[in-house]
Amino acid sequence: MTDTHRAYIGLGSNLDDPLAQVQGALAALARLPLTRCVAASPCYASRPVGPQDQPDFINAVAALDTRLSPLALLDQLQAVEQRHRRRRLRHWGPRTLDLDLLLYDDTCLATSRLTLPHPHMASRGFVLLPLANIAPTLRLPDGRRIADLAAHHAGDDLRVLLPQR
Ligand code: AMP
Repeated sequence: MTDTHRAYIGLGSNLDDPLAQVQGALAALARLPLTRCVAASPCYASRPVGPQDQPDFINAVAALDTRLSPLALLDQLQAVEQRHRRRRLRHWGPRTLDLDLLLYDDTCLATSRLTLPHPHMASRGFVLLPLANIAPTLRLPDGRRIADLAAHHAGDDLRVLLPQR
């Protein structure tokens, strides 16, 4: 593919069979137009951020090579969320499927629809550990190494569930 960009997607679910939601979403990412899924992390189980009276989250990260623009990719991610009948009952509450565009090359962007890198990714173990698993030498646009950021979360309550095939 010419004019290909590397994007990393964070996936999360804690409703309606979360493991199946995440695995189905990984399959959907692999079918996106002008896009190839080049790596997928194992699935991890994590305690929820925010209200604790909700099920564990299942998280994973995928690496995509895509010719879609950042906004066209966000449109596709939101369409996948809708197809998974995303329900969002409260802020930071349970959701069927959450897809975050974490990184798109070294693009830095702050618009009403899209912020890149994803604003919370550098502080979340459930993003950093799966991301470091598939991209151990990756750096943020500001030069920080994902592996170094992930090392601060080595003690987080995260369990690896299933390696992707
Ligand atoms: P949330 O449900 O918390 O994931 O937030 C979804 C909203 O965040 C949507 O309205 C998106 O337009 C916006 N957003 C901003 N930056 C990003 C990003 N990097 N990835 C996904 N959604 C984003």
